[in-house]
Amino acid sequence: MTIIPVYNRVITPHSDVFFQTDHFRKITGKSPEKEEQVIFLFLKDNETWDKYEQDSFYPIGVSGVITEVNPNGFLVVKTADRINISSLIVKGKFKMELAISKREDIEDLEPQEEQKKFDEMRQAILDFVDGFQWGAMARGFIGRLNSIGDLTSAMSIWFANPNEEKYAIIAEDHTAKRAELMEELVYGYIEVARLTSEAESEHEQDNQKQYRKQAIQRQLAYLQNELDEMDPENVSDTRRFEIKIAESGMNETARKEAEKVLNRLKQEGKNSAESGMLYDYLDFVTSLSWKKEQPENIKLDEAEAILDEDHFGLKKVKDRIIQQIAVMDLQKKQSGSILLFVGAPGTGKTSIGRSIARALKREYVRVSLGGVRDEADIRGHRRTYIGAMPGRIMDGIHKSGVSNPVVVLDEVDKLGVSYNGDPASALLEVLDPEQNNTFTDHYMNVPYDLSDVLFICTANTTDTIPEPLLNRMEMIQFTGYTVNDKFQIARRHLIPKAMESVGITEGKLEIPDETLNTIITDFTQEAGVRGLKKRLDTLARVAAVDIVKGDEEKVTVEPGQLREYLDMRPISHEHILEEKRPGVVTGLAWTQVGGEILFIETLFTKGSGKVTITGQLGDVMKESAQIAISLVKDMYPEQSKLFEENDLHIHVPAGAVPKDGPSAGITMTTALASLVTGKAVSPEYGMTGEVSLRGVVTPIGGLPEKLMAALRAGISSVFIPAENEDDLRDVDSEVRDKLNIIPVRTVSDVLDVVLK
Ligand code: ADP
Repeated sequence: MTIIPVYNRVITPHSDVFFQTDHFRKITGKSPEKEEQVIFLFLKDNETWDKYEQDSFYPIGVSGVITEVNPNGFLVVKTADRINISSLIVKGKFKMELAISKREDIEDLEPQEEQKKFDEMRQAILDFVDGFQWGAMARGFIGRLNSIGDLTSAMSIWFANPNEEKYAIIAEDHTAKRAELMEELVYGYIEVARLTSEAESEHEQDNQKQYRKQAIQRQLAYLQNELDEMDPENVSDTRRFEIKIAESGMNETARKEAEKVLNRLKQEGKNSAESGMLYDYLDFVTSLSWKKEQPENIKLDEAEAILDEDHFGLKKVKDRIIQQIAVMDLQKKQSGSILLFVGAPGTGKTSIGRSIARALKREYVRVSLGGVRDEADIRGHRRTYIGAMPGRIMDGIHKSGVSNPVVVLDEVDKLGVSYNGDPASALLEVLDPEQNNTFTDHYMNVPYDLSDVLFICTANTTDTIPEPLLNRMEMIQFTGYTVNDKFQIARRHLIPKAMESVGITEGKLEIPDETLNTIITDFTQEAGVRGLKKRLDTLARVAAVDIVKGDEEKVTVEPGQLREYLDMRPISHEHILEEKRPGVVTGLAWTQVGGEILFIETLFTKGSGKVTITGQLGDVMKESAQIAISLVKDMYPEQSKLFEENDLHIHVPAGAVPKDGPSAGITMTTALASLVTGKAVSPEYGMTGEVSLRGVVTPIGGLPEKLMAALRAGISSVFIPAENEDDLRDVDSEVRDKLNIIPVRTVSDVLDVVLK
């Protein structure tokens, strides 16, 4: 005999009662067996074996026998009579001694009446469960039940009524009254449940619809896959997009938009006017990378080695890049400060961007911003436009095929502004780490996360970059290469590449040092190495012909042959003039292609005090001329009448190139002083500096480039503003060593030396 203590359940006599097998094991300590005799005891409180004592149980229990142990995890007990418990001793866990006797029912319920009650109750329950998801399952179960006792026992777990009310049914001796109590419980439950479920039913229906829809969709997807597998050639475009959308990992918004467009494509059909545009859109967004890339493990010394391998020199630049990589690594980020590489063309700005990508083991794209004037170029056109396209940023990301490329934004200084919006402000958004994780290209119309993209900008000058954009970036100067640098770059990189590109094997072409130096000095004129690269490419191409035609094993190019090989005349440099002449002085200028020397020429002609200035000078330079005139008149009062008796002509040759900037101030002043004193200034002197009306020399920019140009042109001594002395740190030591650099504070400091 197995004792089954139960709490908060109705187990009626003469019924089929269902019981969970697991629960049975837990409260009896053994597995149920068919034909096993059992006694249900009703607990007053929800207690367990360690607390049981005689008083834990109500005095009436129910006996029964296990008739079925179902493999689905339940057992069925056919209950028999109620029993009185006269004594109960708990002997230990799962052990109890009982003295029991049968308790008779008082049968006052007619069998027909009972049947009627049962039919009604069953119908009510069936009606009730119909409204539910699990209704069908419940119907099957209810079909197994044959009496109101069965029904009540089965449902009693759900009744929220107190434990005593449930026990009251078992304690009731009169069968009619017992049936009444059961009806109260069951109908009461149905009523309450219906009220609550009505409130929830709308919700329920929605959910149901949703389930149905999902089930159908799954079914469809399955069938479609089957079809695709049978006929892989014929997977339709729309189907292909469906697969790509599902696999792309796009964010929720993007997926919805793509699905919307796909539905349009399905509706419009292949031959509609719009289909091309819809197709392009889907193609674009589905082939974009939406997956977050894991950062690569970067070893700093390896990164450094890669940077060194690709580029000669540029030590400061490389150091700064390594710092950036280290910071990104520490912060576990894939992007960081936005570096702005500023320098003349061909100084390696773009190509070092590519090296950075290689060092970081990431994809590289270059986005050219030169000539961009419309906001749409950055941010894309809205799709309502015919021929709408994504902006250059997203187009670049798309080309890279990943979500974390290194993007070089080339020529940010060449961004324009037009009536079609301001591209710089769109770019600002791209570069703003606060906003760029949800950058929305107008064409895509959904946000894309740019926060893992490493942006690097390049520019020739910062003058034309709008202030807010400039503030966002950290500037690194590329000052240009010395002759020596160029020589090394050519030997290590440019010549091997040039030979390789035309298929000349090593040893077949010799370019002696002297020849190379001549190319650098006489056939190029630049701060970078772009021209040099072109010359060497030409040389290699022409030499290739000689090698193929000729009988010789090896071609050697001598300096004298360069004119023929390169098919160009050597550049006539603004070399310092041989002749000395009062009124002519050499200045140093900074241009976007690097430093240059320039001559300031002044001349008095018979006249009446007119001043003519030629040489395409800008306003600032014209002002410098005015200041120079006033200063010189003031410094040389005796000669000041020269300015009244003559017309003064100031000219800055070297052609049609517009020139501007204040740094020619000292040169103009010196030229005029030389003119009025009749003392010529040695052409070996060069100078740069702004001057004030008090004769103070104030600082200028572009010092490294200017000094490089001075050296190239053969100048030996250069006057620079004393306040620029700090900038000498940025000047290549080769240049510093070879030039005699003289810092000055006033105009007199210069004149005292040069007008001796
Ligand atoms: P920029 O972007 O500054 O105009 P690029 O990066 O396009 O210049 O460089 C022009 C060419 O010169 C490229 O082929 C580049 O590889 C080469 N180059 C520039 N600087 C170096 C260097 N320091 N070492 C090796 N090659 C260089």
